Amino acid sequence: MRQGRRALIREKKMERMDEQNTRLIHISHLHPLYLTHIQPQREQLLAHLCHACHLPCTGQAYQCSQCRYFLHPSCARLPQTLRHSAHPDHPLNLHLTPVYVNGTFACNACKQACSGFSFHCSLCQFDLHLPCAALPETLDHPSHPHLMILRNNSMDYICDLCRGECEVSRWIYICTTCDYGGHVGCFASRTRIPKELYELHERADQERNQQEAMYSVHLQQQARMAARNISRMGSINAVMLTSEPNQYVWRH
Ligand SMILES: [Zn+2]
Ligand SMILES: [Zn+2]
Ligand SMILES: [Zn+2]
Ligand SMILES: [Zn+2]
Ligand SMILES: [Zn+2]
Ligand SMILES: [Zn+2]
Repeated sequence: MRQGRRALIREKKMERMDEQNTRLIHISHLHPLYLTHIQPQREQLLAHLCHACHLPCTGQAYQCSQCRYFLHPSCARLPQTLRHSAHPDHPLNLHLTPVYVNGTFACNACKQACSGFSFHCSLCQFDLHLPCAALPETLDHPSHPHLMILRNNSMDYICDLCRGECEVSRWIYICTTCDYGGHVGCFASRTRIPKELYELHERADQERNQQEAMYSVHLQQQARMAARNISRMGSINAVMLTSEPNQYVWRH
């Protein structure tokens, strides 16, 4: 009985490692993936995009020896369900490909058209792409004495760091007490752009800054994913203690 239960639990995992922790079998890819070191060469960042989150891989990453397929170590070990304060009523389930017929989804946090892994609520057609799912729900920013929270922007809002417009229904970081906040990219980067200089920035520059900011918080996001992984392991342990484990099998 105990053996059987363990077998079911093993089927819940999306990945399997060899003993040296270098060869990974992942449900999202046909071939085994190998842990390699990717040199962070700025001009080649786009050549090593992670299949799951579509951000560049630098440093340690899993790579297929036969195709151009990469996964961040943190993206290879994601929880299958996620509870998020932006969607408190339902758990979000991890999907390896978009559930929609056109093969893309619009992330509910950033409104980008995405095609990588997603956390999805089928009841509400709510989707998060991985970089947004991993954003810290509260943020301690050096420019402000109070904790900022992640919230859906419901009105015209001017970012207090770059003075650019924040689009309605995208996420922003905000201190609601002081009505201080703005773009996720600006605040998550911790790089303050002086307000006086904002007029010198072209819109393209602002967008590039935000892209870079999003990338610079990736390590932070990976740490958060790792924390979620730990909590997932905790729930697997909890399942092992119950008499009726959830039977769940991934299929290709
Ligand atoms: Zn990734
Ligand atoms: Zn391959
Ligand atoms: Zn997003
Ligand atoms: Zn929902
Ligand atoms: Zn901004
Ligand atoms: Zn405040």
